[in-house]
Amino acid sequence: MKTTKRLFAAFLAAALSLSVTACQRAGKLDIPDVQDGSGDFQKNMHQSVSPKLQFACETENGIYFQVKSFAYYIEKATKNATILCGKPDCPHEDKTCNARFYCQSLWAFDNKLYFSNDSYIEENGSAVNYGNRIYRVDLDGTNRKAVQNLEFAPGGDISNDPTEPILHRGITYFTYSGILYALPLGGDIEDAEEIWGEKIEDDGSHIVDPNEMTYTLWADEDTIYFMVNLMQSNGTMKDTLFAYDTATKDVAQVWQTPDGSEVGQWETAGVSVSQWYVMGGSIYFYLSGGGFWKTDLTSHETVKLADPQEKTQYGTAIFSDEHLCILNDTPQTLGWDNNIDFTGYTGGDTLYIYGLDGEFQKELSLKSLYEEINGVNHIQLSFFSGDDIYFIVDATTMTGEAGVGFAHHSSLILCCVNIGSGEITQIYNW
Ligand SMILES: [Zn+2]
Repeated sequence: MKTTKRLFAAFLAAALSLSVTACQRAGKLDIPDVQDGSGDFQKNMHQSVSPKLQFACETENGIYFQVKSFAYYIEKATKNATILCGKPDCPHEDKTCNARFYCQSLWAFDNKLYFSNDSYIEENGSAVNYGNRIYRVDLDGTNRKAVQNLEFAPGGDISNDPTEPILHRGITYFTYSGILYALPLGGDIEDAEEIWGEKIEDDGSHIVDPNEMTYTLWADEDTIYFMVNLMQSNGTMKDTLFAYDTATKDVAQVWQTPDGSEVGQWETAGVSVSQWYVMGGSIYFYLSGGGFWKTDLTSHETVKLADPQEKTQYGTAIFSDEHLCILNDTPQTLGWDNNIDFTGYTGGDTLYIYGLDGEFQKELSLKSLYEEINGVNHIQLSFFSGDDIYFIVDATTMTGEAGVGFAHHSSLILCCVNIGSGEITQIYNW
């Protein structure tokens, strides 16, 4: 397998771009506008298990993602990457850079990019808190504009764990102090419709409630899904899936993390599954150490689709509408020295590809990356785009010891491998 290295600095990529429109300003990125279909929630882009690359979205021609607070663009056809700035002579270092998103969600919709972040704006020498807001920018990163508040009072959301808001067919879904809301994109938050949940009351003690409900939002076709951790009668928590029918406005509980007695034991006991994906009225889920499963959310019938533990005992996984991809990384034994990427997993050098019918399709080797890149300690799966699987190769090293001090050398390489050809492409390096 041949690995082609494509290491592009931002301005090099911009300079190499040959198609220049008449009205293009000097330094402006040349990213052709593309329609983004129906504006459906991009399920495949919200599967990342990498804490280093959590936010990504795609258009027909490209992929947008954030690493270390800055946004980048990959042209799908060439795999060329560039920082999403386009400002002449910008060092891409601070808040004045177009590419500094610092986002907590990222979507492409109707030829624009949208992202949310906590807005502290410098005004007359002091920072004013506008709270969590949605911004809109053009596909080249320019023309930033705040378009929607996500907090009724700036900084007023008292949830411990912020929920990543989603956009589906022009409607935003977000939580505020424990309640899930829906609001047409760009609308006044006072018009937001309450869907579900109980308001968290702040008694002033600011004590973190370990039983507080946390949300993961999802959408497929006419249904909005949300996974929350619910307290069970025996005192344990279980991830529980609810469905909100956008036509009837009904909310129903449709699934819950299975017990070991239903599906056998797996790596982590019973609270959450390792990875899940809802599509076409079914939830597909992977249990590291315990199988690949599907539950029909109407009939509640559960079937085992495959036994990936025959290929790899443990692993992390991402889904697309066609595939399940499992990486054979392994749970780490506890210990600060080795636990430098905070995923709880280490290593990983082979991908196992399954169809969503459970059929094993192929094995892809990533072993060459360990030979070409010094000090790789973990591969972190990020997302599927068509038949390309994107992942982060983490060669971050940390030396020193607790109490004395650490030296931290960050080395992250974004790569993609094509399911058809098995070819690995290195996309970005720093
Ligand atoms: Zn910049």
